[in-house]
Amino acid sequence: MDKGNKENKETKERLKKLKEELCFNQKLVWDHISQIEKEEALKFSEEYKTFLNEARTERESIREIVRLAEQNGFVLLDEITARGKKLRPGNKVYTVNKEKNVALIVTGKEPVWHGINVIGSHVDAPRLDLKPCPLYEDQGIGLLKTHYYGGIKKYHWLSHPLAMHGVVIKQNGDKIDIRIGDTEHDPIFLITDLLPHLAKEQMQKKLGEAVSGEALNILAGTLPIEVKDAKERVKLAVLELLKLKYGIIEEDLTSAELELVPATTARDVGFDRSMVGAYGQDDRVCAYTSLRALLNCQNPVRTAISLFVDKEEIGSTGNTGMRSRFFENTVAELLYLLAGDYDEIYCRKALALGRALSADVGAAVDPNWEGVYDKYNAAKLGYGIVMTKYTGSGGKYGASEANAEFVAEIRRVFNEKKIIWQTAELGKVDQGGGGTIAQYMARYGMDVLDCGPALLSMHSPMEVAHKGDIYMCYKAYEAFFNN
Ligand code: MN
Ligand code: MN
Repeated sequence: MDKGNKENKETKERLKKLKEELCFNQKLVWDHISQIEKEEALKFSEEYKTFLNEARTERESIREIVRLAEQNGFVLLDEITARGKKLRPGNKVYTVNKEKNVALIVTGKEPVWHGINVIGSHVDAPRLDLKPCPLYEDQGIGLLKTHYYGGIKKYHWLSHPLAMHGVVIKQNGDKIDIRIGDTEHDPIFLITDLLPHLAKEQMQKKLGEAVSGEALNILAGTLPIEVKDAKERVKLAVLELLKLKYGIIEEDLTSAELELVPATTARDVGFDRSMVGAYGQDDRVCAYTSLRALLNCQNPVRTAISLFVDKEEIGSTGNTGMRSRFFENTVAELLYLLAGDYDEIYCRKALALGRALSADVGAAVDPNWEGVYDKYNAAKLGYGIVMTKYTGSGGKYGASEANAEFVAEIRRVFNEKKIIWQTAELGKVDQGGGGTIAQYMARYGMDVLDCGPALLSMHSPMEVAHKGDIYMCYKAYEAFFNN
């Protein structure tokens, strides 16, 4: 080796060392996990897809979560109370709120009032809900009126196969489960789109105004009843069919929650099958990974809770959203069942000294839309779980910003457990923004950090996640609970 070459090599090595020592480099998950872990990650995604295909609504998600929890030895909190039993460290319990919320708990060795470890995710997703009086007939076609739920781009929902999932509650309390459009033998539902030939005016409109909310009406049928001179023959025929099949009448639809969701199953994406494409991954990817992390949690030091909430997409409102009292009521009950009596100050301490991850998705840089991201502070697909110190919009407005101390603590936990993580903001400053349940968890005084995988096509009928990221989230949540 001549002198010049040797110097060159030394410089290169020095640069490499400096870079490794000083720079914060994003790491690709696939480059930093073993072959065994890669296989585990791929297997994990298979199980995740099965979950997604079952959990198409908030109620179905909760049902699946409870089923898996029970399979893993979790017991309903009410049963402990009914049997006059007490809780001990290491117990696995759960409690459900109106079929739309659940808290899974593994009691810790330390007293609850020393603080709890919580991971909160949401199980609702953008969709179309049927209106209370949905059915009408126009031009000999039976149609259903909808009201969209959450932040959708309305054009996504036109000419896209839809399934109907939900419940109808009859006056006497009977609950009818509806699930149509999942199998190839089932019919699907559809919203028609305007043919391009006659869309001259529509095509001139702004994207956000091209499809009106009142135009999201679902094709429901065209067969009339036999009485030829009757009015609304198709509407009557549809009602007759509903009566026959489900025993319901039109008025029953006023006490129903029927949701139109994409009639597509979770699929692998790409030649290499490296990504999962599915509806509702915001935020069921975090629900599933945090569920699996808690199912693995044995005898934690601090009490570990996976919390699954509803209504995040519309502001965490209502008695099943994060702003309801369900979570603190659960902690109160827990304290009572552990101690045998209850003093509110201990509940407040358990919450205020809590540590929480608000498990929700971020946006991965999309090569088709690079302009909206700050490339120095954006999440990349495949580079691990994303820590989002703050959300909000227009000058961090509405953000629940995590304290630097807490970010440092989570960083330590992740680094010690070799979790591949990255950090990001949601898009460029003043480009838009969003919020999560973090701000409502933070009200208790607990430390909260937003933490989840980055998606492509978030809030579309088919969102995309990276299998390496999904696996890393699971490992990260596991590390958090066991810390
Ligand atoms: Mn979300
Ligand atoms: Mn969302």
